[in-house]
Amino acid sequence: MILLDLLLRSFMKKFYYTCVFLMGFMSLPLMAQNCTTEVKAGDKIQFNVKSITVPKSCKSFEIKLVHEGKLPKNVMGHNIVISETAVIPAVAQAGIKAGLKNEYVPKGDKRIVANTKLIGGGEKTSLKFNPKSLKAGKKYSFFCLFPGHWAVMKGTISVQ
Ligand code: ZN
Repeated sequence: MILLDLLLRSFMKKFYYTCVFLMGFMSLPLMAQNCTTEVKAGDKIQFNVKSITVPKSCKSFEIKLVHEGKLPKNVMGHNIVISETAVIPAVAQAGIKAGLKNEYVPKGDKRIVANTKLIGGGEKTSLKFNPKSLKAGKKYSFFCLFPGHWAVMKGTISVQ
């Protein structure tokens, strides 16, 4: 009986260490992936990046927006909105209708995957989304919905 007990204990110990090892191994790729990125804008109508690559393994991906300019948000406001690239002009039109009081983001618009609030100079904001909400085979972009900005302030988002 003692021998059996010892065998069992030794087995449990091995099992325990194997589990700890596996868990550590599995969390490594998640820790190595960067699930956040920063986009900068200023008093010019442009973002500092043209494309964002989102690692597939991220459960949630964060895009931070920093407005390094001085102009207020009603003059040179910026936000980041994510939609399918094909619907940007339509979403932008809906954004103009929504107006400054809605920060140029049409409320409850299903074409919008995620969006930040509208910010002015010296402010920062961020958005988070699940990479799984971007459908495979579709092209997505991030852009600014301040009137007239989206034509220049845009870039691609791809999940890899
Ligand atoms: Zn803008």
